[in-house]
Amino acid sequence: MKQTVISVIVPLYNEEQVAYESYTRLKSVMESLHEPYEMIFVNDGSRDATPIILRRICESDPTVHFIDFSRNFGHQTAISAGMDYASGNAVIVIDADLQDPPEVIPELIAKWREGFDVVYGKRAERKGETLFKRVTSAVFYRILKNLSDVDIPVDTGDFRLIDRKVCDALKQVKERNRYVRGLISWLGFRQTGVEYVRDKRFAGDTKYPLHKMLRLAFDGITSFSIKPLKLSSYVGGWISVTGFSYLLVVLFLKLFTSHTVAGWASVMAVSLFFNGIVLMMLGIIGEYIGRIYDEAKGRPLYIIREIVNCSVPDNVVDLTARRPLGGGSDAILHVSSAA
Ligand code: UDP
Ligand code: MG
Repeated sequence: MKQTVISVIVPLYNEEQVAYESYTRLKSVMESLHEPYEMIFVNDGSRDATPIILRRICESDPTVHFIDFSRNFGHQTAISAGMDYASGNAVIVIDADLQDPPEVIPELIAKWREGFDVVYGKRAERKGETLFKRVTSAVFYRILKNLSDVDIPVDTGDFRLIDRKVCDALKQVKERNRYVRGLISWLGFRQTGVEYVRDKRFAGDTKYPLHKMLRLAFDGITSFSIKPLKLSSYVGGWISVTGFSYLLVVLFLKLFTSHTVAGWASVMAVSLFFNGIVLMMLGIIGEYIGRIYDEAKGRPLYIIREIVNCSVPDNVVDLTARRPLGGGSDAILHVSSAA
């Protein structure tokens, strides 16, 4: 068997409307490269026909590997699973909805051949996305850049190529609340970007509703900065200084003038405002504690129901084979009886 040179990972969640089109567009780009390749489609617990379509594709195309999660574990986890199974010298991650055009892949590969270990796609323009999404993501990337000590490039998603050694290094990072693009920046290596125009979705709606976007944003910030925790000390400090100064003013007015302090409404307003701040700070601390809790449980990153056209890598425990649980494994594979 020829050595796989390029692996492409495609995470999918309820993408029945785009799965086949995504496969055919990717396929024609990969064929044009004239090099051994594999495509790894990871079904992240879709509730629609996505897994059926992918299984069909596997039947006719041995270059397609299919990993079927037991439920929705999230986009970042699906990417991580793909990386566990990828065998190529270069590993590419691309969205299924064709917002990241597969035709940019040869450009990523060209940069890799020049000697770069990470080639990320940088969004020069975003088509067909709501103003809300564009503004919130622009703000988020800039906040993250300012808070984090790691240089995470702005306006880049997970569409990127990484070298085998970066993929192997990333597999050693066992964090559960993963922000993959940040982790890749954290790893270092020689990194560069390729600008591209992000198209609008081929079909269907975004699989990133507000709560998932917020979760990803929190994962990004809390994984790469503890500055929000320090915020409470700064804000608390300033509030005490202001409060103390105000107390002095009140005492002065009471002792040396006949002016009385105005009443209840202002006290309520101030009290509500500061209670709000205290609760917000507690919430921030809670976010970090929640993440510590997740890490402490040490559960596997994902559970697989079925794999097709794919061999089990060393770091995955195959329950059906009843191999002993080796240390450091981060995934459990349960091959269904049908497989
Ligand atoms: N996705 C996933 N699991 C999820 C949500 C999304 O695997 O829980 C996949 C989705 O199918 C797509 C990619 O992640 O291939 C990016 O999602 P989407 O295009 O909906 O995000 P957007 O481009 O709107 O930010
Ligand atoms: Mg998309």
